[in-house]
Amino acid sequence: MKVGVLALQGDVREHISALIACGVQPTTVRRPSELAAVDALVLPGGESTTIAQLAEIFGLLEPLARRIAAGMPVYGSCAGMILLADEILDAKEGQKTFGGLDITVRRNAFGRQVDSFESDIAFNDGSTDLIRAVFIRAPWVERVGKNVEVLASVDSHPVAVRSGHLLATSFHPELTADHRIHRYFIEEVAKPALQKVQ
Ligand code: GLN
Repeated sequence: MKVGVLALQGDVREHISALIACGVQPTTVRRPSELAAVDALVLPGGESTTIAQLAEIFGLLEPLARRIAAGMPVYGSCAGMILLADEILDAKEGQKTFGGLDITVRRNAFGRQVDSFESDIAFNDGSTDLIRAVFIRAPWVERVGKNVEVLASVDSHPVAVRSGHLLATSFHPELTADHRIHRYFIEEVAKPALQKVQ
């Protein structure tokens, strides 16, 4: 399986390290030809407005939206969650999104930069171990569509969701040494989704 990391802005390097720790050899994706060469993609944390603008400039916005709609497994952390969401609240005027995930997210929902925080939360992957979650100007999910499963919440706000081939977290597992979410994406989301396609 070829896994790419969208490398326009944000914490690309951290996702690459986490994926390598999970046994895959990721590539960076900046151009449509690089997107065409990967089977699955990670959308990093960063600034969703900047990533969307750069994606448009690099000619990636539409090809990426098409691949997502066609079933490419994608994991988005923080800004990546926003980019996967079908609907964004507190969006910048004209902010674009790749979409595909039937959720409504609220940007910067937990407050401003000074309100960034870390917390140990439950992640519903069958393990009872808590996971260290780093929230940085994070969104939360305000509406989930009927095929969307909530995997983690903070104060009853969903912060990790999955719908078939799409996984999104408001927090940044790439900033911790615990690669459980990346492993979950590779083993439980991407591999089964790609097997179905073949
Ligand atoms: N607040 C950022 C945005 O709206 C997301 C922050 C992050 O990815 N850490 O894109």
